[in-house]
Amino acid sequence: MQRLLVLGGGTAGTMVVNKLRRKLSRSEWEITVVDQDDKHLYQPGFLLIPFGVYRPAEVVKSRHRFVPDGAQLVLGEIDRVDPAGNKVLLTDGRRLSYDYLIIATGTTPRPDQTPGMLGPQWRTSIFDFYSLDGATALADALRDFQGGRLVVHVTDMPIKCPVAPLEFTFLAEADFRRRGMRDQVEITYVTPLPGAFTKPIASELLESMLDERKIAVEPDFMVERIDPQARTLISYDEREIPFDLLVTVPLNMGAAYIERSGLGDELNYVEVDKHTLQSKAHGNIFAIGDASNIPTSKSGSAAHFSVEIFTRNFLRHVNGKPMTGACDGHTNCFVETGDGKGLLIDFNYDTEPLPGSYPVPAIGPFALLRETKANHWGKLAFRWMYWNVLLPGRPLPLPARMSMAGKHLPGAHHTAKEQT
Ligand SMILES: Cc1cc2nc3c(=O)[nH]c(=O)nc-3n(C[C@H](O)[C@H](O)[C@H](O)COP(=O)(O)OP(=O)(O)OC[C@H]3O[C@@H](n4cnc5c(N)ncnc54)[C@H](O)[C@@H]3O)c2cc1C
Repeated sequence: MQRLLVLGGGTAGTMVVNKLRRKLSRSEWEITVVDQDDKHLYQPGFLLIPFGVYRPAEVVKSRHRFVPDGAQLVLGEIDRVDPAGNKVLLTDGRRLSYDYLIIATGTTPRPDQTPGMLGPQWRTSIFDFYSLDGATALADALRDFQGGRLVVHVTDMPIKCPVAPLEFTFLAEADFRRRGMRDQVEITYVTPLPGAFTKPIASELLESMLDERKIAVEPDFMVERIDPQARTLISYDEREIPFDLLVTVPLNMGAAYIERSGLGDELNYVEVDKHTLQSKAHGNIFAIGDASNIPTSKSGSAAHFSVEIFTRNFLRHVNGKPMTGACDGHTNCFVETGDGKGLLIDFNYDTEPLPGSYPVPAIGPFALLRETKANHWGKLAFRWMYWNVLLPGRPLPLPARMSMAGKHLPGAHHTAKEQT
């Protein structure tokens, strides 16, 4: 019997277990997935909880529902990996042996890493929406907010879903307008990046949208600490930004056991080959989803597209064949922009988000880098797709690698550069 062990039963771990269980013979392969709890969280839903669009119960389901027959779910906290002994130790003393290991323990917000963040103002005037508790507490805080300085802040990159803090900012601005209190709120978007987003064309558009909405941007801001008494963000270059309500995205880090196991970089992301997701140090270890250090946006969609390619490669690898598929960092994200509209961005390692239509050239139904109602409905429909298509590992009729069909460079006169 060959033993496949998957660490983490979140988005990527659950998808890969479902896909591989169908492909690997039950008489030859034992598949086990480990997670610390039985609550699978639909994290994109956290964005909409503060605005009352989703209730917390609508983004949580039991992990057991999504683990297929023929795969075992072990609930327990991972303490460390012993790559030399091909074993994983859990904190309760259990040991799990493997022939192949897939690490899918994602990335976690770490408010403890910024001095002052977890101080007396945490969940009083300082909130996050990258955790279910945080998003739930923020819903009450936003409802009670009577006006003042709202600061939306990103501690450092990379973060999962790097557009989410921008989406929060747009939604909050639209919400204040709807409540007739926009003129009582000063909104500032504070980012460590030189602009609103990581990629230049999208960044230019997003900055113009922030400007139209009279949202100030404070770029290149590397937070050193928060002064909870003065309710001020302080940067290493001694800039100070006061707030009445701070919505921060804390530093994101891979799981601490990755550092204890000697498998990660300085943020605990597993160093892998960006095309095969194979560990650079150990041939029988792979990392998928947010847990790896591949240079693309950490997102459920990047996890989904790369898992498609990874699965095919893995089946070749265990059969002694070379891995011929190459992950290209393909990601797409709906970006809520308020007032029932949204953008869509689609990109990979080499191509930044470009305007156009997706997935069908000139038809869409989704518009790339343009605000439409269809994009907003696409975002809302994604929750159903997540539970019913993506997690169970069912095929989606979209190419896993990014296509240039339907995309065009700004300034070009045609609407679609029809090439694949
Ligand atoms: C606010 C927000 C909005 C988002 N919006 C979008 C969006 O619109 N589109 C999109 O594509 N993506 C979005 N994302 C990102 C998306 O949710 C993640 O990128 C995706 O879930 C990553 O999947 P993963 O399997 O790598 O990690 P996860 O789904 O986070 O799974 C990791 C699992 O590992 C487990 N684990 C971790 N450490 C241990 C340990 N020591 N022991 C045992 N178990 C452990 C955790 O319990 C968890 O279940 C959003 C995320 C947030 C927070």
